[in-house]
Amino acid sequence: MKIKILSMLFVASILLVACKDEQKEPVKEEKKETAITSEEDFNYVVDEFADLKILHYQIPGWEDLSLKKQKLVYYLTQAGLAGRDIIWDQNYKHNLAIREALENIYTTYSGDKSSDDWKNFETYVKRVWFSNGIHHHYSMDKMKPEFNKAYFDGLLKSTNTSLTGEAYEVIFNDKDAKKVNLNEEKGLIKGSAVNFYGENITAEEVDKFYANKKSPNPKKPLSFGLNSKLVKENGKLVEKVWKSGGMYGSAIDEIVKWLEKAKTVAENEKQAKALGLLIDYYNTGDLQTWDDYNVAWVDATEGDIDYINSFIEVYNDPKGYRGSYETIVQIKDFDMSKKMQVFEDNVQWFEDNSPIMDQHKKEEVVGVTYKTVIVAGEAGDASPSTPIGVNLPNANWIREAHGSKSVSLGNLINAYSQAGGSEKLKEFAHDEEEVELSEKYGETADKLHTALHEVVGHASGKINEGVGETKETLKNYASTMEEGRADLVGLYYLMDPKLEELGLTDDYEKLGKAAYNDYIRNGLVTQLVRLNLGDDVEEAHMRNRQWVSAWVYEKGKKDSIIVKEIKDGKTYYDIKDYQKLRVLFGELLSETQRIKSEGDFQAAKNLVENYGVKVDQKLHKEILERNEKFKSAPYSGFVNPVLVPETNEQGEITKIEVTQPASFEEQMLEYAKKYHNLPVKN
Ligand SMILES: [Zn+2]
Repeated sequence: MKIKILSMLFVASILLVACKDEQKEPVKEEKKETAITSEEDFNYVVDEFADLKILHYQIPGWEDLSLKKQKLVYYLTQAGLAGRDIIWDQNYKHNLAIREALENIYTTYSGDKSSDDWKNFETYVKRVWFSNGIHHHYSMDKMKPEFNKAYFDGLLKSTNTSLTGEAYEVIFNDKDAKKVNLNEEKGLIKGSAVNFYGENITAEEVDKFYANKKSPNPKKPLSFGLNSKLVKENGKLVEKVWKSGGMYGSAIDEIVKWLEKAKTVAENEKQAKALGLLIDYYNTGDLQTWDDYNVAWVDATEGDIDYINSFIEVYNDPKGYRGSYETIVQIKDFDMSKKMQVFEDNVQWFEDNSPIMDQHKKEEVVGVTYKTVIVAGEAGDASPSTPIGVNLPNANWIREAHGSKSVSLGNLINAYSQAGGSEKLKEFAHDEEEVELSEKYGETADKLHTALHEVVGHASGKINEGVGETKETLKNYASTMEEGRADLVGLYYLMDPKLEELGLTDDYEKLGKAAYNDYIRNGLVTQLVRLNLGDDVEEAHMRNRQWVSAWVYEKGKKDSIIVKEIKDGKTYYDIKDYQKLRVLFGELLSETQRIKSEGDFQAAKNLVENYGVKVDQKLHKEILERNEKFKSAPYSGFVNPVLVPETNEQGEITKIEVTQPASFEEQMLEYAKKYHNLPVKN
């Protein structure tokens, strides 16, 4: 599971270094900025275009790692990047062909680059880079270019670029308009452009196909469908498996090559064993090996370096089977981890004192780890748009039997904070006290919420015996229900004296107030700036923030727990009774856990559809107007630091330096050249 940034506002309000004006000045001559040492000198914002902002991040403590550990990090980042093309093809079957054409134009066009048309073309290319394809990374909508077909034809011609047929037409027409469609009426598969299913396959056929697959041990269900594309051949459904020698084989072989190197510098036996199993899995595509790998990976907790690498999250599959390729390479952040250890040590207390029904509580919450890590490199679905926290593996039986690893991506969260400003908070907060609380306690509240969400939230509760995994029972509502449930665990405890007792805050009431204000404001108001007027809420995390907020608002109406106020034509939500709001969060948590435990699809559907999807058009319009004065882009992502190895005469690495790319386009073009490991058609 991944945690996307809780709320831009939330984080933007924390540290008041306003970098909005520090727009990048692309350094044309200098290829790379070298070794940035002090925080103040570091310009977090690299680029801004459309609704996007590109940030840098640093790798604090890099110099303190031994050369062997630096090598491990380096090999793992290379392994990740080696599979970069996979996510492009997974996202949409024509993405690689389109990218190649766009990049050829971008690098060879010698005509007028001062025209609006060219600037619009440039923006389109950057947006496509950012989304790893032609669909918006967050809204899932196909992005509309702001240049016309005639202009594009001219560019193709003058640069000798060839792009024909559907790959060409789709840039301008209405086909394949949504990457992932969760509206059943449009057909989950038919309505989704994502490249996980062949032509003419229905959701019912997929269900039937996988219902017939039986795991050797029903208590340890294999992740059927995780690493393949499902196609119809001669009227029969077949999986095209992503493995060496199979689909994406040429990229996978490159991944394996780097993983082999990583294995030679593993920190310990367990880590080496896990890497070995991952290599086996890539070579064979065998799902039993995948589970063996995950067990070994969860078990390998002693190293300072860790990583995620494979087909992991299933959010991009409307049916929730197939994993998107992603990788994150991490270095342990010892300082922050110490603080979060507190939650781990007390996880049973949180389970025992949870407002969920007793029969849904775990008698023993197993092996949850929570770590703040320093990210050293990302690729695939995790880049340039990144999660801020990750909790893996996804298979429930492994989580229950072996525990899970949960990390918060500390240096990325820090970069987000540094790049923000506080003016937005002032615009949307109801009163001065709310602003002050958010500024003083918002950052801690945010961190503790993420920690509670991951460590306690995802680990909490159990599914009734005989009830299936949520992807079978709650289907397309499984993700948003799980994220909402974990959020609610966090919300319930953010106003608990236990936090003060554990030394996590100096004032749990103020911390809780800040957390509740920020959550409700985001869930009911500010997250709407990410949507276009008329759009429904689609993304799982956005949905859960809205259904949680809208539900407690409605249930608390008669007691005026949250009051909607309109001042000078501006809408605000003001929390009048925090303790009663906490009780409501508890009630909703209990109900959400019941839905998960019993697999109550209808209740999940009602909750999400009634509270999480529709948007009040009048309010939305107002919010968008109020937001207009803030130029800052609603979405951010990152360029990766560049790890540059120095070698001696024998070709051995003697030193690895961290540099920063000069610009977003420089990194994207370099990646395209260096890690172009797939043909345009797969
Ligand atoms: Zn989560």
